[in-house]
Amino acid sequence: MTNRSTFDDVMVPNYSPLPIIPVRGKGSRIWDENNNEYIDLAGGIAVSCLGHCHPKLVQRLQQQAENLWHVSNVLTNQPALRLAQKLTELTFAEKVFFANSGAEANEAALKLARKYAYDHFGPEKTQIISFENSFHGRTLFTVSAGGQAKYSDGFGPLPGDIDHAVYNDLASVEALISEKTCAVIIEPIQGEGGVKSASKDFLKGLRELCDKHNALLIFDEIQTGAGRTGELYAYQNVDVIPDILTTAKGIGGGFPIGAMLTTTEIAKSLVVGTHGSTYGGNPLGCAVAEVVVDIISDRQLLDNVKTKHRKFMDGLDRINERHKIFSDIRGSGLLIGCELKEAYHGKAKDLLTEALSQNLMVLVAGPNVMRLAPSLIIPDEDIEQGLMSLDKAIASFLSKQD
Ligand SMILES: *Cc1c(COP(=O)(O)O)cnc(C)c1O
Repeated sequence: MTNRSTFDDVMVPNYSPLPIIPVRGKGSRIWDENNNEYIDLAGGIAVSCLGHCHPKLVQRLQQQAENLWHVSNVLTNQPALRLAQKLTELTFAEKVFFANSGAEANEAALKLARKYAYDHFGPEKTQIISFENSFHGRTLFTVSAGGQAKYSDGFGPLPGDIDHAVYNDLASVEALISEKTCAVIIEPIQGEGGVKSASKDFLKGLRELCDKHNALLIFDEIQTGAGRTGELYAYQNVDVIPDILTTAKGIGGGFPIGAMLTTTEIAKSLVVGTHGSTYGGNPLGCAVAEVVVDIISDRQLLDNVKTKHRKFMDGLDRINERHKIFSDIRGSGLLIGCELKEAYHGKAKDLLTEALSQNLMVLVAGPNVMRLAPSLIIPDEDIEQGLMSLDKAIASFLSKQD
């Protein structure tokens, strides 16, 4: 017999999972071992973009599982080729590298930026500029690029020549950037960092600074991509085109896959043998992601994401009028952040726990922000029921404050 306490017995203690153990999911609902039903506004952290067990994804996964799982990159495979073709048709990119996660996609992006600078400008051009409070994954290179010391403290020595500027502050980038800069990496919306959006002017300014100093602009769209903001990728909202874009999370709809997208010219620096992955681009992941891309690149679906955004914002505003718990409600599409008023700072996790008691799954983004990242096709009745449960969770949360 296993239960939640088995976790503490046999798992490395780097996570602290919630008390329930989910066993089944359908659409935007999840059931635990005791058959309790939950509304899922967490979406597996912006991953399950088509909800749980979408019939078309299940069918494609089963079909691929009966044909071919794995061949390694000694060979190519049809699902990978078709997926790459679709991603290049739908974005600025001309070339794709497949990985298995977001961190690996960013690792490839950062390595490519270093290599491209080395090939074209020599060994001195190695500086990477990232942003305070950013999140780019958990490998050593990506925690170093990330702007949250708690994720890299104690793991040194860290990869060098990475500097952090202030998000939405172009002057702070100007102060750091030079001919020695090989790349600037940024999330168009900081997801883990509290659902904070970069302004259009700031992203345009970064594009100009990168062009001026021959640095590559990398958009980490691991959380903002795959339709999350109501466009396939968030750069399409702002008309600022990056040199490299990374995607993961939603693109697999729950199957682990990541990808780095770039231009033919830049891709040339990753010649045969310079980078690789045993599983990257495996037929199972690519087959599922191909169906995800087919479904989420539909204009109607993307417009519905914007409609559902307004539905959430209206509902959250009404809840906040009643309870006056949030100082700010923000975000884009179905990536929404609700910042707690100062009196409740540090208590976002408590609110999450209250929500779970009301059979509702939400996320946090740091200690002060409740984050929602539901399925892009969440039915309106699940939004309404979810918001009703949130209202009750907030009432209970507030009743416990002094
Ligand atoms: C989740 C996330 C990552 C890391 O992705 P993994 O699949 O966990 O490695 C990187 N960047 C951003 C913006 C993310 O949200």
